[in-house]
Amino acid sequence: MDTDTIENSGAAPIQPDAPRYRWTLLRAGRFLLDGGGMFGVIPRTVWTRFAEPDDRNRIELQHNCLLLESIEPDGATPRRYLIEAGTGDKLDAKMTEIFGLDGRTIETAVNEAGAKSATPFSTADIESVIVSHLHFDHSGGLTRRCREGETPDWEATKPGSASGDEPRVKFTFPNAELIVQKREWLDARNNDAVMTKTYYRDHILPFEDRDLATLADGRARLRLIESQRPFPLNRKPSRGDLPKTGVDERMTEVLPGISVFLTPGHTWGQQAVAFTDESGQTVVFTPDVMPTAWHAGQVFSLSYDVEPYTSMITKHWFLTEAAAGEWLLVLDHEPGNPCRRVVANEKGWFDLTADERAAAAAGVEAGAIALD
Ligand SMILES: [Zn+2]
Repeated sequence: MDTDTIENSGAAPIQPDAPRYRWTLLRAGRFLLDGGGMFGVIPRTVWTRFAEPDDRNRIELQHNCLLLESIEPDGATPRRYLIEAGTGDKLDAKMTEIFGLDGRTIETAVNEAGAKSATPFSTADIESVIVSHLHFDHSGGLTRRCREGETPDWEATKPGSASGDEPRVKFTFPNAELIVQKREWLDARNNDAVMTKTYYRDHILPFEDRDLATLADGRARLRLIESQRPFPLNRKPSRGDLPKTGVDERMTEVLPGISVFLTPGHTWGQQAVAFTDESGQTVVFTPDVMPTAWHAGQVFSLSYDVEPYTSMITKHWFLTEAAAGEWLLVLDHEPGNPCRRVVANEKGWFDLTADERAAAAAGVEAGAIALD
């Protein structure tokens, strides 16, 4: 098997009754980000011990996305859902070069997986896409450039409404609803981010265009979720505080057996996604609260976080729940093996261990990084 797809690994069933999903890791392309940006307050002398920057101080990351296929008892065609969409192809030549994008997108990855499948499928067969948040490296792939001879689904007519040099876009997944937190949607529409070029309007506006609001099957194209916050608004948790409610009580089931929950800090409306795999294992897609295994430490937040302190608090309860619930985590930007387990250590914090079976299936060393 090549390094672009990792099949799921087995483990002891812990939720025997939940609907189950076969899942595949889709690598939606390489991504280079400034090392300082990725490690916030961590000194360069510390992070360069494990992450090797290139000659422009960038470190290599991945756009990790998941394809979920429902297990149908009667052998019927599975329902197909996607978690995350990567950057896509709409950034202009300058930004594409700055971020070291290699031309591979979520569209490439889904079509490859579809061609290999026993029941072939394409981007048109994806029924729902859940994104953790709407920064360009998570939502850009929801739409794509219009190609020669194609009629655009949507056109960026106002100044600044196109992210790249092609204002005519198509929906990458024409029959899929988009599922995201309402808080995230409002913040993205308002461009409430530390970096100005993080939320792009042409990644977002097509989904709220009135003429495009309804899918062919009658569902709304955009579904906004309001999950419960871990801590009440206007209450600042202390460093060691855990939420009063368990994460199970804060989960919102958005599709059969697939739930989302808020993980604020990187953005206020960022969400993680939990589901049960074929063997009964709880799998949690982990967003930018811990984008790589290098970010397991409590203060390893990103410079792009709207609230680094909140990220630190979120990471504490998230890892506590992950260890107690024996979750299998899939990290969103890990360039090596993103499948990790969480174990409490003697220092009062947590160690991440690579899932050996997933690593073997992927043919990558845990945490390995390869710069061109
Ligand atoms: Zn990201």
